[in-house]
Amino acid sequence: RNKFEQQWSVLQHKANEVVNRVRDRHIRLAVTGLSRSGKTAFITALVNQLEHAAIDGRLPLWDAQRQGRILGARRVPQQNLHIPTFAYERGLDSLFGDPPAWPEPTRGVAEVRLEIRYRTRHPLRRHLGEISTLYVDLVDYPGEWLLDLPLLDLSYEQWSEQVEQQLRRPELQQLATAWLEPRWQAEQAFEEKPASELAMRYTDYLHACKRELGLHLIQPGRFVLPGEFAGAPLLQFVPWVWDKPAGEPADGTLYATFKQRFEQYKQHLVQGFYEQHFAGFDRQIVLVDCLQPLNAGAASFGDMQQAIARIMESFAYGKSNWWRRLFSPRIDKLLFVASKADHVTPEQHGPLVSLLQHLVSSGRGQARFEGIETECLALAAIKATEVGKGQANGREFPAIRGTSLDGEPLLLFPGEVPSQIPPAQWWQNQGFDFQAFRPLPMSAHQALPHIRLDAALEFLLGDHLE
Ligand code: GDP
Repeated sequence: RNKFEQQWSVLQHKANEVVNRVRDRHIRLAVTGLSRSGKTAFITALVNQLEHAAIDGRLPLWDAQRQGRILGARRVPQQNLHIPTFAYERGLDSLFGDPPAWPEPTRGVAEVRLEIRYRTRHPLRRHLGEISTLYVDLVDYPGEWLLDLPLLDLSYEQWSEQVEQQLRRPELQQLATAWLEPRWQAEQAFEEKPASELAMRYTDYLHACKRELGLHLIQPGRFVLPGEFAGAPLLQFVPWVWDKPAGEPADGTLYATFKQRFEQYKQHLVQGFYEQHFAGFDRQIVLVDCLQPLNAGAASFGDMQQAIARIMESFAYGKSNWWRRLFSPRIDKLLFVASKADHVTPEQHGPLVSLLQHLVSSGRGQARFEGIETECLALAAIKATEVGKGQANGREFPAIRGTSLDGEPLLLFPGEVPSQIPPAQWWQNQGFDFQAFRPLPMSAHQALPHIRLDAALEFLLGDHLE
């Protein structure tokens, strides 16, 4: 080949590379986790760090920022107009308020879009124009919605059977009396008012399981976090735990109506979520609050562990072929975060990551098998404590200092985080006491204080900012 042809082929190759890279210029990062795992704080902090990254960023673990290649980031209008916008400004108003307060938590799907301008290291693109742009969508949604995935494989009868089994646990039975009584007849005619009241009592029961027993495995997930479907008939049914119908009840009976609604719930809400949202995510962050269940006790911790395992099933595509066919997900990186790491002293961060690794190990293996890159981190999106030293019996101990939610100064050693799933005896003499802190007074002119949020940024965005 002559020299010209050679050069032409090199140029063509490089042009292809540019086109491929141009396709990469947009990325959807989804953030999930159970209620109160810290999603709202995490997204607020991420937006805030990005907006400050070019000027006063303190993000040494994020290569592009440390190398001074981030030129700026700003919020721009999102493209999906039907999805509510993440309430970033409102969150900041709370954080910078007097007294400082935490932002209102997540209740449904919300998103925010950022435009990041940076200097590329890629030789050709640097040559072409020097400055590159990456659009990042951050999407927030409740982890409770992922708990519904197994419902897709269950019939109304099978699901009802499952709930009946759960009700054998005395503590659940006790909470359930308000909806279990009186007994309903499968063949009785469906009437709107009593049926919706029954569904309301069942929903109250699900909320009580969460509030009073610290349970996370709440199904159907939309009953407790309905998003835009609050009050819709789709959320007005209950599992059938009374006398079974003799045959297939006719249309218009209570049983048949509940069964239809269950099927519609599966189709519109569960499957709909995977089709409309999940299938479009590029990367996923799963937040886990390991500390609160350590406080709450063995039952709460065990339940959280099960809930996380269920959440992970959404990433185990290979197990069922219909799953891949229906949603063709494209997630290539999965980040697990032990949130609120500022609640424990720094030497506990190692055990905290290790505990998280154990919690997500099975699903993580499956994700790897799918070719998804995974990482576990302990971080604080918004650091609300300082590290200090306490004194007891004439000896110094590591401690954290902050302000309680009621405004009282606190200095404490919350305890040792177990580095594995705690065995039964751990719970007998565990002295874990983790307290909620109010955010520190902060300046709106500086980036929010954090722990290792930059490591998360590096994992999530690093390769796209080369
Ligand atoms: P969501 O329900 O997942 O959106 O959870 P939030 O982001 O609203 O967090 C729930 C609560 O956890 C907040 O109100 C804070 O009390 C606490 N929290 C969340 N993130 C942090 C953090 O980084 N540090 C501390 N100290 N507390 C946090």
